Amino acid sequence: MNVFAEKFDDIKIFRFEVPGFEKLSLKKKLFIYYLGQATIAGRDILWDQHGKYNLYLRDVLEAIYLSNPQKEGEEWESFEVYLKKVWFSSGPHHHYSTEKFTPEFSRKSFKEWLNNLEEGVNKIKKEHLSPGNISILEKMIFDPKFHSKRVNTNPAEDMISTSANNFYEDVTQGETESFYKELRSKADNKKLSFGLNSRLTKVNGTIKEEVYCIKGKYGSAIEKIHAYLKQAAVYVENNEQQIVLNLLIEFYETGDLELFDQYCIKWVETLGGDIDYINGFIETYGDPLGIKATWEGVVQFIDIEETKKAEVIAEYAGWFEQNAPVNPTYKKDEIKGISLKAINAVVLGGDCYPASPLGINLPNAEWIREQHGSKSVTLTNISNSHHKASLSTGFTEEFTLNSEEVRLEKEYGAISDNLHTHLHECVGHGSGKMMEGVTSESLKSYGSVIEETRADLYGLYYMYDPKMTELGLLPNMDAAKAHYNGYIRNGLLTQITRIKLGSDVEQAHMRNRQLIARWVYEKGEDQVIKKVVENGKSYFVINDYEKLRILFGDLLNEIQRIKSEGDYEAAKQIVESYGVKIDQDLHREVLERFEKLKVPPFTGFLNPNYTLVNRDGEIEDVIVDYETNYSDQMLYYSKEYGFLKPAF
Ligand code: ZN
Repeated sequence: MNVFAEKFDDIKIFRFEVPGFEKLSLKKKLFIYYLGQATIAGRDILWDQHGKYNLYLRDVLEAIYLSNPQKEGEEWESFEVYLKKVWFSSGPHHHYSTEKFTPEFSRKSFKEWLNNLEEGVNKIKKEHLSPGNISILEKMIFDPKFHSKRVNTNPAEDMISTSANNFYEDVTQGETESFYKELRSKADNKKLSFGLNSRLTKVNGTIKEEVYCIKGKYGSAIEKIHAYLKQAAVYVENNEQQIVLNLLIEFYETGDLELFDQYCIKWVETLGGDIDYINGFIETYGDPLGIKATWEGVVQFIDIEETKKAEVIAEYAGWFEQNAPVNPTYKKDEIKGISLKAINAVVLGGDCYPASPLGINLPNAEWIREQHGSKSVTLTNISNSHHKASLSTGFTEEFTLNSEEVRLEKEYGAISDNLHTHLHECVGHGSGKMMEGVTSESLKSYGSVIEETRADLYGLYYMYDPKMTELGLLPNMDAAKAHYNGYIRNGLLTQITRIKLGSDVEQAHMRNRQLIARWVYEKGEDQVIKKVVENGKSYFVINDYEKLRILFGDLLNEIQRIKSEGDYEAAKQIVESYGVKIDQDLHREVLERFEKLKVPPFTGFLNPNYTLVNRDGEIEDVIVDYETNYSDQMLYYSKEYGFLKPAF
């Protein structure tokens, strides 16, 4: 299999392998197959959540693409790049920065292509292209100020009406906040994640929730997901899986959040079986208020070797909690059911496609995590692909001062990264407790950054603990050093290659990495970590690994306090001071160095194809192949899984 598929703009596309799929029993393959269908079936939901004109934009762009047989010239190449970017981000806003991107082709060419559109291609009819619609379309494509940002997290503005996402219509931030405050105060069950699976809108002056369910918003896509899940339910591995799946199926019928919580609890408690999945309205990064969740899906099965390591960590979860450098008031008295599995991804969907996370820890509801624990997975096949790719580009060499650091990275980078992910997901997200009355919404737009910072700090603090080699999780302390080098290098230098000059750090994970790296660099006063400039190139060199570890511990203590107390002001202060702004001179320098390497900073993945093999009306096998390319897969998904109607 060829891992590299293609690159365009700031994106590279890889394929991922699914080792061991062929060896699974037919029943397991079918379970995976139908779960996989349910994962792709929700694709349109994310597109619409990202912006209310996004599906329309996609339809028109794809129609142009399909009805132009002469695909040549610079303008056309720009068009292809633009379409590929729109596919990648499920809309015209960059998937990472959430800022609007605009194409290189001209309005004139666009007009010509529109005029040449054949009636019926991609279901486009004349009435879809009315002057009013076209004018909106042109603003979506060419005007960077129109719907300029998908997620605006600037607290000085009304974050709701200035965000281009489609979670809210005609309501302000103030109205939204008081709506949910009132909803919560009136509810019998105050623990529900109010607003998680709905769009908030105004009908005749009254604020109303449009709930995502079969009979509600996104009904025609949810109906398909629901049907595939029912087919999957025939092939479950055990009784518990049956119960869980039935709860999810029932939840999609009504959108009842009580059912969703019941489902999450059962899901987290179901540990048997080799196959698992995520399917639903899960992550709230796309909403500046952290209320509304985007749709996502992953199907996965166990990676036995990596899981053994993860189980060692899970076994010592209590030890990790006890020994954390954190005020005992904020520690859990007892660690419940943390399960950590290394898995191979089989199908990615919604918000996990084509850009995929490396690890996942769910459920998100804080009270379920405290009372029932959480499930953590690291996606081994995805992260191995990532790592393989980055070593061959000269990227590490460019941003490291000495060859010893490069050697450590090549030798131990992958193994320590995998360990960090285990620690981040299992020990990090699984630990700590909230004070009475504090909820995960207390920190508002800073909530996810603080939570990711906390999880990363657990990973960093324990990485350099002798316990790691004692438990056989790291071969030696050099591996831990490799990880510290890599983390600091990324947080202070290399991750800003993903950001345009002049822009701030926006994405939660990037903010948390910069926050940590900048904080320890500053507190170490150029002693622990030293900035060195050679031949006009900046480097950060760690002089004292022991002291650096102590600084990680100090910061962890403070971050845990902020989280447990719901201290919004402190969260704002620390995130804005360390996580958001970039030194402009350094940024310019890093971008210039990076430019010369010609490596796209972002990565996405194509799903493998899964095909049912029929003989005499009986399914006798499911086969996997990696033959597809990026455009074909996107067009295929739009055609076969385009279950939602565009806004026009
Ligand atoms: Zn995390």
